[in-house]
Amino acid sequence: MSGELLRAEGIGKRFGGFVALEGITVSFAAGQLTSIIGPNGAGKSTFFNILSGALTPTSGKLHFRGRELNGLPQHRFVHQGISRSYQITNIFPDLSVHENVRVAAQALTVSYDIWRNRARLAELHARADAALEAVGLLSKRNELAKFLSHGQQRALEIAIALVSEPELLLLDEPTAGMGPEETKDMVALLERLADRRTVLLVEHKMKMVLGLSKRVVVLHHGRLLADGAPDEIRSNPEVRRVYLGQ
Ligand code: ADP
Ligand code: MG
Repeated sequence: MSGELLRAEGIGKRFGGFVALEGITVSFAAGQLTSIIGPNGAGKSTFFNILSGALTPTSGKLHFRGRELNGLPQHRFVHQGISRSYQITNIFPDLSVHENVRVAAQALTVSYDIWRNRARLAELHARADAALEAVGLLSKRNELAKFLSHGQQRALEIAIALVSEPELLLLDEPTAGMGPEETKDMVALLERLADRRTVLLVEHKMKMVLGLSKRVVVLHHGRLLADGAPDEIRSNPEVRRVYLGQ
């Protein structure tokens, strides 16, 4: 599918008297890897939380495939085809790798008949394994999640986000806390993931983002500072001032 997948129109968010986001209007095309960058506190995670339904905007509208998303609870965002990972590692350490993903798969099913229906249970297992395969963790499926390396745990979180087979995958700083080797592996994984679905990435590693993305959206103090191809962003004087000059 091509064309516009997600559109945010005049999105604003206040926390009490503090304006975290103001007037963000931006749309994302299907089948593209777009990054949202900006210095710490720019509003990236807040914007992501709004795009994934975890936070309700104070103003503005969200459309996904032309359908308005405002006011829907987060699980409805998932059913519409939007799924996300978090900036902070968010897994069950004492469950196995496979169980972590299967719990997520089970949470998506509304019916309890999986316990009596072997075919449904087998399907859940297969779905969990497919998500693990997609992130390169199938060989680790029976290990406890707490024994994975940091990089593998981040990949596991992505598998958890993939189990709903999202059309749009939102990833908040998937390379947070990683060294150069793990970052390289994660970049390769992101490229593979973006072959098959639309990916929106929040990052503050500017260099990595410019090499990886087709398009970069820059937030600064809760506002949209720039939006364009990596080359345009690299040479944008305002971006250089607030970001590269740090
Ligand atoms: P980023 O992800 O770009 O680093 P955030 O979206 O996390 O930035 O935060 C943007 C601004 O909003 C920051 O100044 C932060 O302190 C503030 N903020 C974020 N979440 C909350 C909250 N729940 N309550 C109050 N202020 C918040
Ligand atoms: Mg953040």
